[in-house]
Amino acid sequence: MAMKTKVLIVGGTGYLGKRLVKASLAQGHETYVLHREEIGVDIEKVQMLLSFKQQGAHLVIGSFNDHQSLVKVVKLVDVVICAISGVHIRSHQILLQLKLVDAIKEAGNVKRFLPSEFGTDPARMENAMEPGRVTFDDKMVVRRAIEEAGIPFTYISANCFAGYFLGGLCQPGFILPSREQVRLLGDGNQKAIYVDEDDIATYSIKTIVDPRTLNKTVYIRPPQNILSQREVVQIWEKLIGKELLKSSISEQEFLAIMKEQDYAEQVGLTHYYHVCYEGCLANFEIVDGAEEASKLYPEVKYTTVEEYMTRFL
Ligand code: NDP
Repeated sequence: MAMKTKVLIVGGTGYLGKRLVKASLAQGHETYVLHREEIGVDIEKVQMLLSFKQQGAHLVIGSFNDHQSLVKVVKLVDVVICAISGVHIRSHQILLQLKLVDAIKEAGNVKRFLPSEFGTDPARMENAMEPGRVTFDDKMVVRRAIEEAGIPFTYISANCFAGYFLGGLCQPGFILPSREQVRLLGDGNQKAIYVDEDDIATYSIKTIVDPRTLNKTVYIRPPQNILSQREVVQIWEKLIGKELLKSSISEQEFLAIMKEQDYAEQVGLTHYYHVCYEGCLANFEIVDGAEEASKLYPEVKYTTVEEYMTRFL
């Protein structure tokens, strides 16, 4: 049976954060959710927080502008998970976590901290392209602060969120699959890894009480979900019983189009470039000092790409 642990989720109203709250409650942890005063009259967020409370979570007030308020909430728990925003087309606040790191350091009681990562492993992206490298650089700044403060950590590398990548058949700017056509990025043969966001939350919560994941990176690589764009398209074609019309966008064309976009779009496109043209997610072995989630937790029945795509039928 899962051990009862006190867990604080920061960014609990977010796209991933709300799933972390749900998974923490489902795994029987005493779950605390930060209620920032700044959300003011954001009715959706307030309603969401109240629904967490109805499901058994504790809401705790704190602000990134008030160090002592953060120290106070951190002192209530054993584990802190942060899912603060980090997608430029929505919002990017990764460096705000330095304030949380300061609070965790001062509080001195936290046994595990999971910072807002949940994507490509930033430690492998030292040669990443501008401007998208800002995501990896900022996440590395936070890692260094955590490690310098001696805070026990787990870094979750969750690869591609299914919602962003699978829905649009791995085409940037699309989140619904066409029944007519698809544009392949290059030859469409680079492997990537797709993970349902609820599964990311389930695996992440599993790691927090696991000594095997202490001070390590945990990659989420469900074996059936390591697929190229072409393979994703084939799964969709099988489901709809029809072949899509295919075209392709070369690396040079992709980069030229990228340069014409605004900054936030360019950041996102840079990430697609590394994933879809360079294969940065699947082109390495997981070595000693890191773990893979589906091997650690074989009891989790993860969502396969085919199951995920069935939702669009
Ligand atoms: P969201 O954009 O949904 O934001 C999450 C939360 O951040 C908000 O709900 C809010 O929490 C908090 N927040 C936003 N602005 C501020 C602020 N100024 N001060 C304090 N808190 C703030 O985040 P996502 O779920 O999209 O991203 C979470 C993580 O997942 C990021 O690290 C991101 O890089 C990663 N990611 C990875 C993807 C992938 O494909 N691998 C795709 C998308 C994201 P509250 O109001 O509750 O305090």
